[in-house]
Amino acid sequence: MASKVTVKAPSSTANLGPGFDVFGLAVDAFYDEVTLTKTKSRITIVTDDNIPTKPDNNTAGLVVKNMKKKFKIKSGVEIKIKKGVPAGFGMGSSAASAAATAVAFDKLFGLKLDGNSLVEFAGSGEKASAGSVHYDNVAASVLGGFVIVKTNPLQVTRVDPPTNLRMCVAVPKLEVPKKKTKVSRGVIPKKVKLTDSILNLSNASAIVAGFMKKDPELIGNSIKDVIVEPARKHMIPGFDKVKENALKAGALGVTISGAGPSVIAFSKSSADLKKISSAMSRGFASAKTECQTVICKPSKGAADKRR
Ligand code: ADP
Repeated sequence: MASKVTVKAPSSTANLGPGFDVFGLAVDAFYDEVTLTKTKSRITIVTDDNIPTKPDNNTAGLVVKNMKKKFKIKSGVEIKIKKGVPAGFGMGSSAASAAATAVAFDKLFGLKLDGNSLVEFAGSGEKASAGSVHYDNVAASVLGGFVIVKTNPLQVTRVDPPTNLRMCVAVPKLEVPKKKTKVSRGVIPKKVKLTDSILNLSNASAIVAGFMKKDPELIGNSIKDVIVEPARKHMIPGFDKVKENALKAGALGVTISGAGPSVIAFSKSSADLKKISSAMSRGFASAKTECQTVICKPSKGAADKRR
């Protein structure tokens, strides 16, 4: 068996508007690379990036700790992390490290776990960043494509996205608060109106149908969220303008990526994607905010051999 394994895992976007805490999509924009090496004892983290290096505070460290415990593995593990996914911008950064680590650990110790179990272990690592276990980003990052997460018990359904689906991501250059996910969860209403819940349910259902029918138009024009987006958009300078500009430039649907502050526009490959991206940049510029834009496709994820 190998004594060293390297796995890359992609960024991801959670929610896709009305699918709050349920939908995820792997996004071919950024990748984390994790190398696990067997050592004598202990879990150690090596990285040049600005992330926690104490195993309990790092999603990758926690995944290794949990998997070692579950499978009674005595060997130590060195975790080398090369970050490609910017941390704290709603692109599933901590999830990409956790996903790559779960897949690499499985390979390193020949566990041959199924996709659902890999997602479960990767999700357990998210406690180190978000304070709670959650699966939408890790499921997408591990399995690739579009995922629907059911919990209690965990059951993840993966659907291949349409090949002509494209996304324009705008990552604003902002100082993100340390506990951003917690802060952005704090602004969400505790109770919702039935009419709003019906609207979101109809759009979420149509998004699933859009992925099943390989119909980017149905996906894009159903990215409408009347519950979470209105509560969170004030945390993103220029959000309304970014969205309006992208739609005017031909995007089918636009929403906050995960807990933000990145904004993601959905389109078909035939759209003028550069025009949409620069329209989004102008939206952020109107609020005196610079941003990085990336035109991307859905990603195949980290666990491609297991699908
Ligand atoms: P987002 O999904 O918006 O990228 P994250 O869930 O990645 O946000 O949260 C980022 C936070 O998680 C940062 O405060 C960071 O310190 C912490 N964190 C812990 N482990 C990691 C890791 N391996 N990679 C990136 N961030 C990590």
